[in-house]
Amino acid sequence: MKLKVKNLYFGYKKSFKVLKDITFSLKQGEIFTLLGPNGSGKSTLLKCINKLLKPQKGVVFIGDKNINELNEKELAREVSYLPQEHNSSFPYTVLDIVLMGRAPYIGLLSSPSKKDVMMAKKAIETVGMTDLINKPYTELSGGQKKLVLIARALAQDAEILLLDEPTNHLDFKNQYVILSRIKKLIKNRGLSAIMTLHDSNLAMIFSDKVAMLKNGKIIAYGPVEEVMNERNLKELYEMEIEIFNIENRMIVLPKLNTLTER
Ligand code: ADP
Ligand code: MG
Repeated sequence: MKLKVKNLYFGYKKSFKVLKDITFSLKQGEIFTLLGPNGSGKSTLLKCINKLLKPQKGVVFIGDKNINELNEKELAREVSYLPQEHNSSFPYTVLDIVLMGRAPYIGLLSSPSKKDVMMAKKAIETVGMTDLINKPYTELSGGQKKLVLIARALAQDAEILLLDEPTNHLDFKNQYVILSRIKKLIKNRGLSAIMTLHDSNLAMIFSDKVAMLKNGKIIAYGPVEEVMNERNLKELYEMEIEIFNIENRMIVLPKLNTLTER
């Protein structure tokens, strides 16, 4: 197992209310997607795995190591993290921001090596931002910022990617292009990823495993073919949905005429 979360409980302000008894594991090469309504605890869970938050109960293992035994730099070499939102008020360039992903490999008083710059440029190319490499981050659109942060996470070159809403702000094409490229990297290099998505259709195309999080609890967990069904999605979002099979692709759609009922 690459990553294991066991009986994790978390609450802001010392209650256990936001995440309740979360248990799952991630194998090498696997893409694991968290689905759930706004406020269900997806971002909180990723932050617990990245040690930005400390769970009141439970453990997170990377390989056979408890993450509490890893210092910040050690953890950053194992896990890279794409935050849901990120703002910088200082006009760093695209290249500067992506180079920050190389920090776990750069000594305290050293500057980035040729390899660091090369890795950063490669990650920028992967997300299609090479033309804007010297542009200030503060002058980018929401979607372009997201792409730069994805590049930063890729440049970090960790074995586990935590991607919080990687497709948020991306245009229709880029949602597919970027997830396809991330998936290819994961499969080719034997990495693993946990990501959060809001689009069930993207989740079905790009995930191996899915967990449905509702009010801080996992209500369904398993291979995508088993978990993504009408019953589970209906329970998760409390809405009427239908799944269609069109040319061997499963498509989730809401039943529109039921949406205004209260
Ligand atoms: P999701 O990512 O699934 O939309 P979050 O993990 O961001 O959900 O939030 C889960 C719950 O925790 C929500 O009820 C939210 O209001 C609460 N929450 C998130 N961040 C904080 C915080 N910094 N302080 C207190 N409560 C928070
Ligand atoms: Mg979130």
